[in-house]
Amino acid sequence: MLSLRAQTPLHCSIQYRMKTLVTESVEIASEIVRNGGIVAFPTETVYGLGAPFSDTEAIKKVFDAKRRPQDNPLIVHISTPEQIEQVASEITLSAATLIAEFFPGPLTIVLPKSGAVPELVTAGLETVAVRMPANEIAIALIEGSRTPLVAPSANVSGKPSPTTAAAVIEDLGGVIDCVLDGGQTRHGLESTVVDCTGETPVLLRSGSLSIEDLRTVCPDIKKLEPSSDLSRRSPGLRHRHYSPEAAVLAVNTPDPSPPPNTAFIGFMTAGEGYDFVVPVETKEEYAVRLFEFLRECDRRGIQLVHCEAVDEAGIGSAIMDRIRRAAAD
Ligand code: AMP
Ligand code: MG
Repeated sequence: MLSLRAQTPLHCSIQYRMKTLVTESVEIASEIVRNGGIVAFPTETVYGLGAPFSDTEAIKKVFDAKRRPQDNPLIVHISTPEQIEQVASEITLSAATLIAEFFPGPLTIVLPKSGAVPELVTAGLETVAVRMPANEIAIALIEGSRTPLVAPSANVSGKPSPTTAAAVIEDLGGVIDCVLDGGQTRHGLESTVVDCTGETPVLLRSGSLSIEDLRTVCPDIKKLEPSSDLSRRSPGLRHRHYSPEAAVLAVNTPDPSPPPNTAFIGFMTAGEGYDFVVPVETKEEYAVRLFEFLRECDRRGIQLVHCEAVDEAGIGSAIMDRIRRAAAD
């Protein structure tokens, strides 16, 4: 017979799982949303934590679950381009150009908000961030929920964003109602955020869609000046982000004799001195694996993380942005 001591962890883990339903059923997940629950779901970038954009009670649960500061606004996720009219009061010329080219996709555009969007969503800003994900499961969930959904990344604020359902459970298991499991996400880094409220679009956050791609249709797009008024208008940039427990360092080459408990991710061959190594062959693979690598470092009790620096062309800019912000702590 099992001793009580042996039974206890099993009993606990069953209770834990029962609080957060993990399912592959969009029908079940959208029913939970329609009944006021909060549901994590896959997009092509990272997993988001969804709630109807106009349901302030459910949105408060999203902020609480993530422990997200209320001055960090949320992105509204839509399932058809037409739904933008529900949340934005105006679609500017630059927005229309970007929507035509890149929706659905890993691009978030910021527009003047409509009266239907609660202040809680926009952290009191007069603008709203909107995105149409290129992921069938995400689109089906939004349609099944019968409303656009706010969906910040489904992690505890400050931690690396989740790219698998298991990573969501690690942070939010027992706290949220459901995780819709759609496997590993395709890009691994969050969407690119572009402010389209002014005459010239401004890149607020680099992401899975590169500035080179954006420039093919918006050649005049600018990068955000850190001192500009826009950096105050994108409050997410102020907050601590993407940090594992370990210290993170960007390095040009692996250390031939790293200190104990050090991990490495990159293209070059790392020596045996590293306790944990994730080799990558392309920048796209680097982007897909970076956040899960940082999480795995925590699971293994790694104390120092070496991330090989990459050139900033294409997705390299978003990779370096996330590494710098993880290293900033
Ligand atoms: P997350 O969903 O966690 O990936 O973060 C959403 C990002 O979008 C944050 O960097 C926010 O600051 C940004 N964001 C959301 N709404 C707005 C807005 N109205 N204006 C500017 N940035 C926004
Ligand atoms: Mg986030």
